[in-house]
Amino acid sequence: MSAIAIDGPAGAGKSTIAKLISREMGYIYVDTGAMYRAMAVYFSKNKVNPEDESAINEAVKNVDIKIEYQNGEQQVILNGENVTGLLRTEETGKMASKTSKYAAVRTKLVALQRGLAKKTDVIMDGRDIGTTVLPDAFAKIYLTASSDARAKRRYDELKEKGENCSFDAIKEDIEKRDYEDMHRAISPLKQADDAVLVDTSDMNIEEGFSKIKPYLLLKNGIPSSENFEFNYTNTSGNSYNFKGTYPDGKTFSYIMGIKIIDSKYGSYVEAQEDDINYQVLIATKLNENSTLNDCLNEAWTSHWHNIKYPEYKAPDTGTTSYLESDCIAGNGTAFTL
Ligand code: C5P
Repeated sequence: MSAIAIDGPAGAGKSTIAKLISREMGYIYVDTGAMYRAMAVYFSKNKVNPEDESAINEAVKNVDIKIEYQNGEQQVILNGENVTGLLRTEETGKMASKTSKYAAVRTKLVALQRGLAKKTDVIMDGRDIGTTVLPDAFAKIYLTASSDARAKRRYDELKEKGENCSFDAIKEDIEKRDYEDMHRAISPLKQADDAVLVDTSDMNIEEGFSKIKPYLLLKNGIPSSENFEFNYTNTSGNSYNFKGTYPDGKTFSYIMGIKIIDSKYGSYVEAQEDDINYQVLIATKLNENSTLNDCLNEAWTSHWHNIKYPEYKAPDTGTTSYLESDCIAGNGTAFTL
């Protein structure tokens, strides 16, 4: 089974983006925050003191959480009752945040999450998916945004609903939750070493999604998507449209296929142009702030010309490259979208 992990603090846009990816790729969206919230509903209903770990340990033994899907929407069943509608309140969020630090709570829910990922392809969002729950996920995204940006989104959302609220109070609450999630002893919120960082502070959801989409394609392809489209214009002004089924390594049905094969420290852009019937492996050195376009631009100027026009002298980009039959390869450094 394939899995994609999206982690990050509250309000970064994880669930909206995860739903878009789920629709695009046909993976099941699993919202793990909802499970911590369902536990919280049980604790609140049964007046369990969130500061009393032994009371929590006892209570957890009486909790049974199941996940079902209705019209593609995740439903959380707590001891036989569908509590999905009760999960998104501020109170429940606070209780979930206070009680998610306990081993008994996490052990139970992590087992449930891993069980779901064993049965089907999932895109799972949470705080510890890439680091703890699904460390072998083929793609890992750490989605974040400044607390100002996240508070502003929440503020606008509440205002639109006609609710009276204070920006400062919302921001303070967000920062408090971040602190609790990032500083707990077990599975604190942090970016996995092999996750890409996407900061949505200055982006809307569509822009965030359009950053992630090429990463997913480049990472492992979007095998089942017929709709995938990625447009790239190189420095010479030529546009390429990458479209189709990717990757099967043999039957490229589009102009050029690209993927990034990355290791912890490096990324390689691989390209194939089938109208001239040779394979080209392009690798380019990326710095921490390289965008996908930077990477492709550099690949274009420093390598592509090398292959097509051997007399072309590539600028010294610090990339180690060598010609091996029809391939050019080189080293890369960490890739951040
Ligand atoms: O994402 P959401 O706001 O629904 O999560 C509620 C709380 O559940 C978070 O503040 C966090 O403390 C906890 N949580 C967690 N690990 C996850 C998902 C959520 O600790 N994988």
